[in-house]
Formats: sequence, C-alpha cells, structure tokens
Amino acid sequence: MSTRGAIAVPTDTGWRGRYHHFDSRPAQLGHELLHLYHRTFDGDHEAMARVLIDDHPAGWANLIALYFPWPVDQEEFARVGYEGVMSDVWGRFPECYCHGQHNEATDEAEQTLTCRCPDPDTDCGPEFIEWAYVITPQALRVFSSRPFGVHRLIALVPWQRDNAPDWQAAEVRAITGEIPEDLTL
Ligand SMILES: [Zn+2]
Ligand SMILES: [Zn+2]
Repeated sequence: MSTRGAIAVPTDTGWRGRYHHFDSRPAQLGHELLHLYHRTFDGDHEAMARVLIDDHPAGWANLIALYFPWPVDQEEFARVGYEGVMSDVWGRFPECYCHGQHNEATDEAEQTLTCRCPDPDTDCGPEFIEWAYVITPQALRVFSSRPFGVHRLIALVPWQRDNAPDWQAAEVRAITGEIPEDLTL
C-alpha cells in the first residue's frame, strides 16, 4: 500500500531526507530500518545514512523485502534499483527511483525533502508525507504528521536495545495524538 514517508538525517531546523513510497508505517518501514541498521550496516549509522540518503537522490519506492528475505550486505546495495517484473532479479533488492531501469539522470531526479515544521515555509509536504524516520547516532527518531498537520516527534527507538519495539504504540499515537512524556518505544 502506498503510505508515504521519508528517511532522513537531522538538521538545525528539523530534518532532510528522501522520499519512501510504499508501506512507510512504523511496523513496516520503522521495523525494516532497525533491521538494516543491525544486519546490513553493522551498527554504522553514518554508513546507513550515506547509502540510504546520499547514494539514492531520487528516493525509494520500497526498502522493504517483498518476496525474498534480505539482508543485503553493503556491497549488494550497489545492485539496488528498480527492475521490471520481466527481470530475473525482480523483487530481490530494494527498489529506488534512480538506479536500475529507473536510471534517469540523477541530477534531474534528485528530490530532497527538507522539514522545518512547524514553520509554514517548509519543504517536506506534511500533508503527503505521513511518516519520517530520522537517523541519529543513538536512535531512530519517528515523526508523524497525523493528526498534527505538521511533522512532530512521536517516538524514539534506541538502536541498542534488548527487546523489539512496540511499533504499534507509535501508530496509536499518530491516531490519538496523545504523546507520552517518555517517547521511547
Ligand atoms: Zn537509486
Ligand atoms: Zn515537516
């Protein structure tokens, strides 16, 4: 399902990052990002941000394993890209909008979402981009624009943890708008 989100890094005024088209809810994209951090990027948040944001300027159709399990390791990320259903690697790698059969001139395809919420002069499309995941050294920060109309920090997922995050709790916060003092999932 198309649930739109962003994968981002912090800035002075909010975050900047790339579009993610499908399945961007916490239980889907949040879950996948936590796994990518540990399995693909071996706990290196800088490498993760470089690959997911800098190396794919047009953003992502889908980072989530649909038909084949990944992890893909960092080298395999070089094979990431859009492939049509006729391709024998279709569905095997995450799909971006800038590599594979979508390799339009990346300069033209570059799309950066820059959040300055709640400043109205923002460039992050809060009406369209429901979820944003910001990669920081310690944690994944989860922002929701629902029901607030602007991106608001609603959950923190520490990278180092012993238990699985309660992703559902983040989705409930985005429905009720009730944000607890301790944002940790
Ligand atoms: Zn790409
Ligand atoms: Zn925003």
